[in-house]
Amino acid sequence: MHHMTLAEIARGLADKKFSSEELTQVLLARIAQLDPQLNSFISLTQELALSQAKAADARRANGETGALLGAPIAHKDLFCTQGIRTSCGSKMLDNFKAPYDATVVAKLAAAGTVTLGKTNMDEFAMGSANESSYYGAVKNPWNLEHVPGGSSGGSAAAVAARLLPAATATDTGGSIRQPAAFTNLTGLKPTYGRVSRWGMIAYASSLDQGGPLARTAEDCAILLQGMAGFDPNDSTSIDEPVPDYSASLNGSLQGLRIGVPKEYFSAGLDPRIAELVHNSVKELEKLGAVIKEISLPNMQHAIPAYYVIAPAEASSNLSRFDGVRFGHRCENPENLVDLYKRSRGEGFGAEVQRRIMVGAYALSAGYYDAYYLKAQKIRRLVKNDFMAAFNEVDIILGPTTPNPAWKLGAKNSDPIAEYLEDVYTITANLAGLPGLSMPAGFVDGLPVGVQLLAPYFQEGRLLNVAHQYQLNTDWHTRTPTGF
Ligand code: GLN
Repeated sequence: MHHMTLAEIARGLADKKFSSEELTQVLLARIAQLDPQLNSFISLTQELALSQAKAADARRANGETGALLGAPIAHKDLFCTQGIRTSCGSKMLDNFKAPYDATVVAKLAAAGTVTLGKTNMDEFAMGSANESSYYGAVKNPWNLEHVPGGSSGGSAAAVAARLLPAATATDTGGSIRQPAAFTNLTGLKPTYGRVSRWGMIAYASSLDQGGPLARTAEDCAILLQGMAGFDPNDSTSIDEPVPDYSASLNGSLQGLRIGVPKEYFSAGLDPRIAELVHNSVKELEKLGAVIKEISLPNMQHAIPAYYVIAPAEASSNLSRFDGVRFGHRCENPENLVDLYKRSRGEGFGAEVQRRIMVGAYALSAGYYDAYYLKAQKIRRLVKNDFMAAFNEVDIILGPTTPNPAWKLGAKNSDPIAEYLEDVYTITANLAGLPGLSMPAGFVDGLPVGVQLLAPYFQEGRLLNVAHQYQLNTDWHTRTPTGF
């Protein structure tokens, strides 16, 4: 039962082959048995899951239908869940029970999903390895000595290990696509503004975007359908009708123009990944796509720009955690300043503190022009590169990551080495574009992802290309040994 995709579950439930309650029991038992090796959950919500499953079964018995009605999922632990701990992977919020549901959580619950729990993540979504979590590192089910990617490493590891078919995640600089690549999943970061950020704890507000992590493009389409849409509570949410993503999965790739940026194949890319990327290009050519070399000349400036803008926004967003209004408060403060200092010093981990300091520095009066303003100008150049490229091509294709998943601890002493791993993903966040990572092969037994980028609101195009690829390849069906 645990091997089923969301699409298969929907068919099984509709055909009354099993109930949502039965499926939920099986998955909860599987999580209890296997998750101790992976550490992919921060909280389990068994009671809620069973009551939601029963309610979904009752709705189906009453004649209701829907691809998500009775579907088991989990939420990354930065989506607020009413009455349930929402920790953001931080000691700061270890004691925080959200007083309301995030829009994404409420929409999916209304569609009939069953919440099995809240998944582990890098603290405040800062990281690419899921090692900065207060709740400990997450292990990659493909090799327990390797990282699963981050910051949505818990969602990725749990779905890859078949503990559940799909999960929500968020992507500020790659946190959906990079863990998808590292664990052989399909993950989609939608266009900025497509999915509501209301109730999603903010890291860098102009970059953050929620999206689905699942095993197939078909399942990403189903989960995205339940997440996307205008939300008056989020001032950056866009009032555009949501297309039927599952209906977009049947387009031919004949004549589709795929751009492959020459800058992607620089010295930093593992040549074995480059080869798998070329293989995926050949596969799409067989399906009728036309390949074109393109250029994204400002790509080299994206990492420094991102690592100024994201910490700057984080330093502002995280100022609300002051020991007064939310979360952790130190014992016996001597005065107000002592309360702030010790609450924040105790509540935030090293990476979060590093980013708050970098961000506060970049925003300070003497340095604002030199760093923050400069970074914003680069952001515009990165966007302009994409706009020019999309005049010539329909999709941009390349590697999701320069290397496969590294060993746990391998980059702990060198934060910049970890930042450099985001080189292919962060440009989409700087430009606000949608991006998808799909499984495309293995290197040393570890999964490799190929990234597709499309113009604004072309999530359907991304999902269709990935779906056609998955109809003709079987990388996405491979299961890690032991799971
Ligand atoms: N690795 C990037 C960072 O640490 C992106 C993380 C994310 O997308 N949340 O900022």
